[in-house]
Amino acid sequence: MRLALFALLAALPLPAIAQDAAIARLLDQVSPERLRATDTALVAFGTRSTFSDHAPPGRGVVAARDWLVAQFQAIAATSGGRMSVALDEYDQPADGRRVPRPVRISSVVATLRGDEPGGRTYVMSSHYDSRATDDSDGTADAPGADDNGSGTAAVLEAARLMAGTHPHATIVFATYDAEEQGLFGSAHHAQALRAAGVDVQGDLNNDIVGASVGDRGERNPNRVRIFSEALAEGAVPKRVNVLGNEEDSPSRELARYTRATGNAYVPGLEGELVFRADRFLRGGDHESFNAAGYPAIRFTEPVETFAHQHQNVRMEGGVQYGDLQRYMDFDYLARVTRYNIAVLAALAMGPGQPAHAYILTHELTNDTSLSWTPVAGAARYEVVRRLTTDADWTGSTDEKQAVSVTLPYSKDQWLFGVRAVDSAGHVGVVTFPEPKK
Ligand SMILES: [Zn+2]
Repeated sequence: MRLALFALLAALPLPAIAQDAAIARLLDQVSPERLRATDTALVAFGTRSTFSDHAPPGRGVVAARDWLVAQFQAIAATSGGRMSVALDEYDQPADGRRVPRPVRISSVVATLRGDEPGGRTYVMSSHYDSRATDDSDGTADAPGADDNGSGTAAVLEAARLMAGTHPHATIVFATYDAEEQGLFGSAHHAQALRAAGVDVQGDLNNDIVGASVGDRGERNPNRVRIFSEALAEGAVPKRVNVLGNEEDSPSRELARYTRATGNAYVPGLEGELVFRADRFLRGGDHESFNAAGYPAIRFTEPVETFAHQHQNVRMEGGVQYGDLQRYMDFDYLARVTRYNIAVLAALAMGPGQPAHAYILTHELTNDTSLSWTPVAGAARYEVVRRLTTDADWTGSTDEKQAVSVTLPYSKDQWLFGVRAVDSAGHVGVVTFPEPKK
């Protein structure tokens, strides 16, 4: 009898993500035309280099910032007083390298207040600055249509569509300055959130998400890469070797959640998990959140065209250089935006994750005992599992309202995680268990 029950448990695959009609309605409203209009407005500032701060009226980073503030304020006016808009600003001194003179760093941040106590917060981020070949050149044209007009358009669109929703968790819509100088805007904001004790449980960073044609002309309209770091800030490599959790940083669990949720809600776009923090020779604002000890992922189009990034606009050897809007695919950007909104809404409308989960390791057994801390609003819990060589969760068991369980799988060759499910079927992010003796 007991064996038969165990066999039944073992056969249970991972359940599909249940769709919430309210989230699906949000996705239907994402507009490629509005994304194009936002991108057109950003490109029209000529350059958004952090060093274009003394450009003539209507040109440069300050004009772009002021335009973003006005856009977010108009959106906040539709939120019933729950969204506020602020500048996250400071003066960056010269560093003799990428900052040749002191400059003001000025990011635009809109916050939609959640209705649950505790301040659980998710961030959707982008950078709005752009650059030419020389990253301190504030005068050359730097249209930045894709890098990162695309991500900024996605963040504005998500803020616009979500301003009228009532999420449990707080959502921050961030457009950062000075990413191209070394992630300065996001670093300042992430450290400020950390200093204020804000419980950021995930950052979805969007950077270069608007072109679907790769540099050999190949079309990739149905894929987006999801980057995540391996070892969280403070992880001890020796301990990771013992636990075998090198693929289970909080950012990795967020990445798996993102793919499962985005794929379920957005037909025509497949998330591709990339188990590294970012591409070679490149970085992004999600790393500022990682450095502050927060889970964070990066979305980027599947194959980039490097002649279109970080380059002065010019023809050379028959090749067009520069980040021009003609290379954008706004239907693709709309799919990426829907993907973000699906994940952000499911996170913020759903339950949080167990603050702690434990795997009991005080005796030699061939099964696995787990316990976890309760989650407010959880109707039940699922224990997910996979073999150590699998990239993503492959099975689960429904644990009802229990907060501990013993399962007939050996902890020596299986990995486990615990997640909450609320009464509406929203699933939370997985918490990976810590060993407890
Ligand atoms: Zn970028």
